[in-house]
Amino acid sequence: MTLELPEDMDELVYWTARKIDDGNVKAWTYRGDCPECGKAKMGKPKNKDGKAKIRAKFYECPSCKFTIDKEEYEDTLEACIIYTCPHCKHKGDTKIPYIRKNFKGVKSLIFECESCKEKIPITKKMKKPKK
Ligand SMILES: [Zn+2]
Ligand SMILES: [Zn+2]
Repeated sequence: MTLELPEDMDELVYWTARKIDDGNVKAWTYRGDCPECGKAKMGKPKNKDGKAKIRAKFYECPSCKFTIDKEEYEDTLEACIIYTCPHCKHKGDTKIPYIRKNFKGVKSLIFECESCKEKIPITKKMKKPKK
């Protein structure tokens, strides 16, 4: 599999690039087509000024106005991952369901190195501690 890095951030619902010990990962998830009409990509609803409501808990189809719960929708998507394995330094890429699972108490996207079969977690970004 050879994945191409995304060119347009507007097509994404998720993007991260980070180091994991001696390895690194780039991971992203494309927006999917509307499951109702299939004519447009689902997106966050927009305010009157045209800006997306990033914190909205649902996605809306700009074409037919079909809405779907954020988590229900995101569970149907795929995450694309390009990585250098922190365990064996293997460079590879993979696709996994965009579903976060519990990894040592932290919600993470977890994938397996295709070479050494070690599990590699992409944790949610740590929240900054309150001052
Ligand atoms: Zn639609
Ligand atoms: Zn590995």
